[in-house]
Formats: sequence, structure tokens, C-alpha cells
Amino acid sequence: MNILDLDCRHVWHPFTQAQTAPDPIPIASAQGIRLYAEDGREFLDLISSWWVNIHGHAHPTIAAAIARQAHTLEQVIFAGFTHQPAAQLAYELVQRLPVGLTRVFFSDDGSTAVEVALKMALQYWRNHGETQRTRFLAFEGGYHGDTVGAMSAGKGCGFFDTYGSLLFEVGLLPFPATWDGDTAVAAKEKAALAQLERYLAEHGDTLAAVIMEPLVQGSAGMRMCRPEFLQALAARLRKAGILLIFDEVMTGFGRTGDMFASLKAQVTPDIICLSKGLTAGFLPMSVTVASEAIYAAFLGESFDRALVHGHSFTANSLGCAAALASLQVFADEQTLAKLPQIERWQRQGLATLVGHPLVQRVRVTGTIAAFDVVTEDAGYTSAIGAQLKAFFHERGLLLRPLGNVVYVLPPYCVTEAELKQAYDVILEGLNSL
Ligand code: PLP
Repeated sequence: MNILDLDCRHVWHPFTQAQTAPDPIPIASAQGIRLYAEDGREFLDLISSWWVNIHGHAHPTIAAAIARQAHTLEQVIFAGFTHQPAAQLAYELVQRLPVGLTRVFFSDDGSTAVEVALKMALQYWRNHGETQRTRFLAFEGGYHGDTVGAMSAGKGCGFFDTYGSLLFEVGLLPFPATWDGDTAVAAKEKAALAQLERYLAEHGDTLAAVIMEPLVQGSAGMRMCRPEFLQALAARLRKAGILLIFDEVMTGFGRTGDMFASLKAQVTPDIICLSKGLTAGFLPMSVTVASEAIYAAFLGESFDRALVHGHSFTANSLGCAAALASLQVFADEQTLAKLPQIERWQRQGLATLVGHPLVQRVRVTGTIAAFDVVTEDAGYTSAIGAQLKAFFHERGLLLRPLGNVVYVLPPYCVTEAELKQAYDVILEGLNSL
């Protein structure tokens, strides 16, 4: 039986309506930005395979590091034991993160990194005797993963209404997206901060933390906000003594042009969640990094004060080796220095679309570029997305619009010619509608 027959018979794919979706495309191998399908087709991976593959596929430095590690220590229980790749990785991450984020908790994917952050925030207050601080505030449109706590924090993205009975209540602030021009954006930021004030007046004593995707909301449709807003928000929360959690699962590791969006925005949260680019897309792993003050609140004689969390594969040594190798690639290839060039190419590409009657809200932050396709059924269920995705696949591009939002989020090995090819095809796709 061929791969597709086996797959169609036994596999259940993520975020997919199997009855109506086209058959999945079997991929045999990948190199750099290219995916090679079993049937001989090639695809340019312009979304870094769900935003994880930052240096390109099959990068030899990372592949070799994993192979070496696999022959040495593939996995060991992480309660009561440790190992060199985990300890070294924690150190290396702390060197690169905003000053003050010093305690690294390992887990398995973006969703669990968020679960850990929520539990840390809740128990931080509990351990300080403030058991009433159980509320969380998030942003409209925010996506934080699809486990129960992460779905609750991400209730503003609207994907998860089906599971409402599983979720806990989370307050929502409006997200001041940047596409309306400076005056309108400033007004939206003011309105969001005013809403925060109202929330603080009503629930300030029971609020544990605010969680958000800094600078760019990913799944909401690459919606971007200004650093000034993050700075104002963080300052207000600090004054009120409320914790700030940054979910940098997508924005981390260079996506916004700096190593982390928090560095670009010059805002240090109390807790940060990282995954996706952490292992450069080679292995599932994540970290939740907290300040020393948060860590200190968990110390004491009683186990009750400890963070009751951990998974079978916590700090898997292959994942840690991959993450260390990815940081090595950042140094070897001067990756951060290449990012402004990618941003320039993205702007050039978008410029070829500006003025098209179906294109609006053109936007770029670092390596992330996006625009909205004008349509009456705007939103993540827009039919335009599926139509364009099929067109792009036919033309050899892995692009996966978020409803009527088309975005390009390439691995950092992308070339100017590849991005030009992508934007040429995007224009053809728009003209085909
Ligand atoms: N947080 C953000 C900002 C994300 O974009 C995602 C995934 O897209 C997640 C959390 C969840 O990560 P994962 O899919 O690895 O669980």
C-alpha cells in the first residue's frame, strides 16, 4: 500500500476537516527551504513548516549534533537527574534573554510552555498567601495553544468555542493592531489601556497575570502592535504588581528581527514561553523562563510550594542538543545580521502587491510579512484562504493563509530570488480570484 493509502486509512490530521480537505501531500525529504514530495514535486516552504524551521530543513550542524547526542545519551529522567545539554542550554538561553529572566523550566511544545506559565503565575501568588489571585487577562485574537489552559488563555482567538465547557474564564483586552495609521493606532492603544484600568478597578485584587503574544499575534492573522504599547502595558502592570507573561512561542528566535520580541520592544516580562524555533524545527521542545523572584517563591520546606509539573520527556537531551546546535548556527552564520535583509526583501515583495484591489493592511515586522485579502467573509473560515492555498500548492509554494490573511514567514536561509518567486506567485494567485 502506498503512503497516501496508509495515511488515509489510519491517520487523523491536526486542524483538518478530513471529509472536505484535499489529501495530504507525502513529503519524502527536505533541504534548506525546499520540500521534496514523493511524487517528484517540489515546494518552497515559506511558512517554515508551521513557523518552526528557522535555519532551513536538514541543517547539517543540527542533524550532526542530534546524531552525536543520540549515541551518547538520548534521554534521562529529569527529576533528580540532569545532563550537560540541558544545563548548558539553560545557561545559553539566559545569556540571550532580557536581563532578569534566569530560571528555565523545560517542557515539550508551545502549548505546554503556556500551561506551565499559567501554573507558575497562579502558584506564585498562592505561595505568597494571595490565594484569591486566580484571574488571567489576555488579548482578543490571542492564540496560545490547544491544551485546556492554553485554550482558555486563547479564548480570544475564537477557535475553541466547542470546548467552552472545559475552559476557565479569562478577561480580554482589545489588541491595538497597527494597520490603521498612527493616529488611529494611538487611539486604539489608549482604549486598550483604558479597558485595562477598568479591569484593574474591578478585579485588580484577584488578577494573577496578563498573557500576550508580544509585537505579533500569529494565528490571529499576523496582527502587529507597536513596542510603545507593550512598554505602556508593562509599566502599568508593574505599578499594579501584576505579572506579565510573554508568549514568544512564535516570535522567539529571530522572527521579529531581534532574537526575541521582548528585546526588540525593550520590555522584560516576568515569564516568557519559547518553543517552535528553539530546536530550529528538529524536535518538539519548549521552555518557560521565569525571573528569580518567581523561582524564589517556590522554595521552602514543603512540597506544596513546589511546581507540580513535569513530563516523561522533560528536557529531552536530543532536543537540548538540537537547540544548542541551533544557537551555534546563529553564531556561525551570523543569522541575526541577515534578518534586516529578509525584512527588506519582504517589503519589496509586498510593494509589488500594494495597489492591488484585493490587497489591504499590508504589514511587516522583522521576517514576518502579511496582508489581508479584501473579501466579504473575512475571518479564519474565509473561503479565500482555501482557494489561495490550493493555488499556491499547485505552483510549488507552501503557503497556508490564515483565513483571508496571506502571510510569508520563511526560514532564514531564504534568498532574494526565492522571495521574489513567492510574491510573483502570490500576485498571480490574487489575479486568479
Ligand atoms: N503560542 C503561540 C503564540 C503559538 O503561535 C502557538 C502555535 O502556533 C502555540 C503557543 C502553541 O504551540 P504548539 O503548537 O507547539 O503547542
